[in-house]
Amino acid sequence: LPVSIYPNRRNSAGIDLADPLVREPFLAALRKLETRDWAAVPTALANTSAGSQGEVRSPQKGTLIGQSLEATPGDVNLMLARAEAAQAAWDNLGGEERAARLIRASERFEAHSAEIISLCQREAGKSLTDSVLELREAVDFLRYYACEARMLFSAPQPLPGPTGEQNLLRLHGRGVFATISPWNFPLAIFIGQCAGALAAGNAVIAKPAEQTPLIAAFAVKLCHEAGIPDDVLQLAPGDGRVGAALTSDPRIAGVAFTGSTETARIINRTLAARDAPIATLIAETGGQNALIVDSSALPEQVTRDVMSSAFQSAGQRCSALRVLYIQDDVADSMIEMVRGAFETLVIGDPADLATDVGPVIDAEAKASLDEHVGAMRASGRKVWQRELPPECAGGTFVAPAIIEVSSIADLQKENFGPILHVARFQAGELEQVIEAINATGYGLTLGLHSRIDATRRLVESRARAGNFYVNRNQIGAVVGSQPFGGEGLSGTGPKAGGPNYVVRFATERVTTIDT
Ligand code: GLU
Repeated sequence: LPVSIYPNRRNSAGIDLADPLVREPFLAALRKLETRDWAAVPTALANTSAGSQGEVRSPQKGTLIGQSLEATPGDVNLMLARAEAAQAAWDNLGGEERAARLIRASERFEAHSAEIISLCQREAGKSLTDSVLELREAVDFLRYYACEARMLFSAPQPLPGPTGEQNLLRLHGRGVFATISPWNFPLAIFIGQCAGALAAGNAVIAKPAEQTPLIAAFAVKLCHEAGIPDDVLQLAPGDGRVGAALTSDPRIAGVAFTGSTETARIINRTLAARDAPIATLIAETGGQNALIVDSSALPEQVTRDVMSSAFQSAGQRCSALRVLYIQDDVADSMIEMVRGAFETLVIGDPADLATDVGPVIDAEAKASLDEHVGAMRASGRKVWQRELPPECAGGTFVAPAIIEVSSIADLQKENFGPILHVARFQAGELEQVIEAINATGYGLTLGLHSRIDATRRLVESRARAGNFYVNRNQIGAVVGSQPFGGEGLSGTGPKAGGPNYVVRFATERVTTIDT
């Protein structure tokens, strides 16, 4: 559907940190929130004394941010009973009214931007810039899916009847959705999944990542204040056992999941093994994302885009660049320029506006990334690695690295951190490069820097990637403009922030009336 179908929809303007008149009061508001204590409680257990509170600490610094009452598998029954009882009324409310409440939620998100950004920084270790972008994306998801609800779910769509009967196509929610979201976008992906399912008329039980329950709890609170009923959107903080209890329950009609390919497979098996109606799985999983640079590319532009694609958010985006393929003729000079920029990346506290690369999410992630760099070095590959500045000692920082490889096939797994691999290819080998990228089985983002139209057309026609970016960076898909999601090992195909996303959460019914 053409985007012009939403003439009144505008993406969130965000917060202009470049303007001191905006920035200074905003930073002052953030400072006031530095010691605020937060709490997450399963919605179904609010107002009860059940369960014991666990502490939520910054995964990087260990400082206390709040308390989380984790749901247990035993709580899932109560949650589902409430959600099931509430879903039909939510579905029958219709697209127009559901849209109004999602829009109201987006307004509450903007009104509480300081709390949200503070939580993004403290609970997930995000930089200020990334936190501002995250809030924008969350607001955009709410508004975009509200437009979808209004457009697709307000009235039945009449279809032609060749024999004179009347045909009406209606979209409805499927029932109760479980949403399972990751820590790397603890607000935007969390709320995007919820909003997609809610827009279509489903009730939602939302399990945030274990590392980030507090920001999810705050988002759910704002949605409740906006008129989304407590039983229709329920928070279920907890570990994998809660996810397993939800996905194995026959009352779950669908699951929206973002995380590892392995976990998506487990969810798929669990859903299939139930003695229950067949459930929908909307999965967005990993990537092994490449960027192809040929000798017609502009080196400065390549350098800038490689830095943001590989190192922004400390490389902790599904979309991030992992393997840079450079045409051999220009490889030495291009690598030299990329290395020059790499050497000047500022590594440090994400709260500092000057920081380019912050910490990774936790000690486990750090250990796995450090081990990868060590193994690559031990196998004799050329590795350039930054020294961590002294103030990073003791934190979960990974020293950014660039590693030479001969092909993307040298990598066994996705390395979710600030590590870039570089490979060379000869003029004339482009098709083999595309084949090697496709052969990983992943298909999320792919970049190309080239001024040659035929090259772009060739890559576009052969590559199996959900998001293909030409002559720009390959992160930061914009809601409504770059619907985001991959295929193959990268997911089941739905594109978040696109015109075909919300319908994936719906069931279609047709009424035919003979006159
Ligand atoms: N949508 C994000 C981007 O385009 C990535 C989402 C993710 O990491 O899951 O950068």
